[in-house]
Amino acid sequence: MLLNKLEIKGFKSFGDRVTLNFDEGVTAVVGPNGSGKSNVVDAIRWVLGEQSTKALRSEKMDNIIFNGTKKRRPLNMAEVSLTFKNHKNLLPTEYSEVTIGRRFYRSGDGEYLLNGVSCRLKDIQNLFLDTGIGSNSYAIIELKMVDEILNDINNSRRNLFEEAAGISKFKKRKKETLKKLADTDADLERVDDLLHEIE
Ligand code: ATP
Repeated sequence: MLLNKLEIKGFKSFGDRVTLNFDEGVTAVVGPNGSGKSNVVDAIRWVLGEQSTKALRSEKMDNIIFNGTKKRRPLNMAEVSLTFKNHKNLLPTEYSEVTIGRRFYRSGDGEYLLNGVSCRLKDIQNLFLDTGIGSNSYAIIELKMVDEILNDINNSRRNLFEEAAGISKFKKRKKETLKKLADTDADLERVDDLLHEIE
């Protein structure tokens, strides 16, 4: 799988549409302080579903929308899309190229897109589960994560190996199933109570 292309429009410092094409091998982003290098990483994290404004270095979700400059008016929508080449079929889909997208409006509305079609965040999360790509997975490593992994804070080392070994999705499904079982138990108890009341 290859990260192919990143398109950003209206996200943080990117008032104009910017397209970054990535080749195989290492890509380095260089630029002066405050020029928007970290905003590129924030954009990747955001399109993958990041919900924490803190992780996006922003106070409110509104602040991720281009706020304008002296010469430019603020925009009303932030949009990021990320395209992967699925040439090794690591993503469980028949498409050889997968584009995920996220939009957010000042009104507070937003949407996720999978190959141009509106979808749920869960669909995107499920698609990338156990690939190492995700807003919280090891594809994006920040300095503070290195500390967490080395010191094994919050079980982070185990989580990292579980994601790499491909068992995270089974743990997630187990958690969902256990919740459904607990909900069903609660429903059955309620039915029992009602039956007792009727008898
Ligand atoms: P450094 O090397 O110092 O870490 P950097 O190149 O990583 O810097 P970023 O932190 O990515 O820079 O970008 C910071 C810039 O983004 C600031 O100039 C800030 O004003 C701008 N910025 C952040 N949010 C917005 C926004 N919503 N609208 C317009 N500009 C924004």
